[in-house]
Amino acid sequence: MTKKSLNNLTPESAGEYVIDNVTVVDPEADKTWSGHVGVKDGKIEFTGEGSYSGSIQVFDGGGLNLAPGFVDIHVHLREPGYEYKETVATGCRAAAAGGFTAVACMPNTKPSIDERTVVEFIIKQAKMAGFAKVYPVAAATVGRKGEKMTEYHELVDAGAVAVSDDGAPVADAGLVRRVLEYANHCGIPLFEHCEDKAASGYGVINEGYYSTKLGLVGVPAYSEEICLSRDLLVLETVPAKFHASHLSSKGSVEMIRRAKKSGLQVTAETAPHYICLEDKDLQTYNTNLKINPPIRGSEDRDALIEGLKDGTIDCLASDHAPHAPQEKQVEFEYAPFGSIGLETTFSILMTHLVKPGHLTLPQALAVICHKPADVIGIDGGRLKAGGPADLALFDSDEEWTVEEGDFHSKSKNSAFIGHKFSGRVKHTILDGVNVTASL
Ligand SMILES: [Zn+2]
Repeated sequence: MTKKSLNNLTPESAGEYVIDNVTVVDPEADKTWSGHVGVKDGKIEFTGEGSYSGSIQVFDGGGLNLAPGFVDIHVHLREPGYEYKETVATGCRAAAAGGFTAVACMPNTKPSIDERTVVEFIIKQAKMAGFAKVYPVAAATVGRKGEKMTEYHELVDAGAVAVSDDGAPVADAGLVRRVLEYANHCGIPLFEHCEDKAASGYGVINEGYYSTKLGLVGVPAYSEEICLSRDLLVLETVPAKFHASHLSSKGSVEMIRRAKKSGLQVTAETAPHYICLEDKDLQTYNTNLKINPPIRGSEDRDALIEGLKDGTIDCLASDHAPHAPQEKQVEFEYAPFGSIGLETTFSILMTHLVKPGHLTLPQALAVICHKPADVIGIDGGRLKAGGPADLALFDSDEEWTVEEGDFHSKSKNSAFIGHKFSGRVKHTILDGVNVTASL
């Protein structure tokens, strides 16, 4: 039987088919094998070993790797309110280009995601765009002001999967307790942006040798650690799910390790820039490397990698943070924090975790597949018969250099422009349809 090209996997042709000639990577089963995957009506029907010999129409996987579509639980889609940086639609295109079929978006929009109508609006925009599934993280407090809690039941009913005041921490320990109690009642986690704002002050870079050398105000690691330890102490008294977002420091990894050992319901994530960059890379004053929390030193980077290896850190999330060129092309002190990341996360994972031997391919994919899916409780990140046919196909060895013109995101503020990576996403399939073919 002649095999069709994956580029022809359009909604019209996508009823029932097999993708053959692939190396299947199943992160949950911790297995890799050469075989095929059968899809019917947007769902995974079966997986098999060797070449497919049945009578269903076949698409040629071209020897690529096939894995569950990736899940990113920390992105900023900027809509509503900051559509000049990114929209739900452009963010979803960036997700598809990076192999992500599901993303959780943060509530620091304008208005913030603090009402049912905003949650519904974002989900509707994502459905209209059709490139990825979007799961809003609602604001923990009205307007993210740290005063009055939002209506979690209603927000969850509308589709929110977690609460957070991301961009800022939950304001105080009393509020943390009430947020945890209410969130637990609704079966969702608190996503905490761990930062003591007073400790960060006007800091713009990791506090250490390089902040002094560059004459920039530093942010000490304890800014993150004070907030995390506050929350973990509260968590000891409340049975609730707590997720620490974008951890950057060695001390934080150690705290999460201890909290997990003591049986708390804790999960944690780090971001790609913390495992492949160091504060010494900021000597160019490149504002795309100005990120909050800041990129720290080599010991922190090594501790985060160790945390991913031993399961202390559950997920890698991009913290995709788009900003317009005119906002980043200013003096370092005045630039906003953040780097886009959806389109480079997978390649960083391959280049900095798999190739050096820190993690096997299935272990590495686990931190962007079923583990993050489990944090937000969605059906995704797995190769499971009956589950959604959300798939990523990638070349594990393709060498490429990141160029500004590559991005599908509306913004181009990547910390990785000019970086050479090994491994690249080639096709992303959402509910059985190849969405990269129409990017
Ligand atoms: Zn944050």
